[in-house]
Amino acid sequence: METYGLKAGEYDALLAAQGGGCAICRGVRRYRLAVDHNHRTGLVRGLLCNMCNSRLLTAARDKPEVLRSAADYLDAPPARKHIGDRYYQKEQA
Ligand SMILES: [Zn+2]
Repeated sequence: METYGLKAGEYDALLAAQGGGCAICRGVRRYRLAVDHNHRTGLVRGLLCNMCNSRLLTAARDKPEVLRSAADYLDAPPARKHIGDRYYQKEQA
């Protein structure tokens, strides 16, 4: 029996190797994680939660450089450097 490129027992072994959670966010889920693969080549990459698989990687267009850039952005937001610490507060009605 094979599911999304994994043979019997490989899902559980891979999940254990990933520490029991999503390979990206490390989140543990009650549901089975998605078997993520490269849609162009078919290469099986690992097990991901729905958020990381369908949102994070889709938004990043599967490009590692986009994800590295996003991490840099969060570590050093450009607005902080150029206008200082500014806090947006939603106006009270
Ligand atoms: Zn995740």
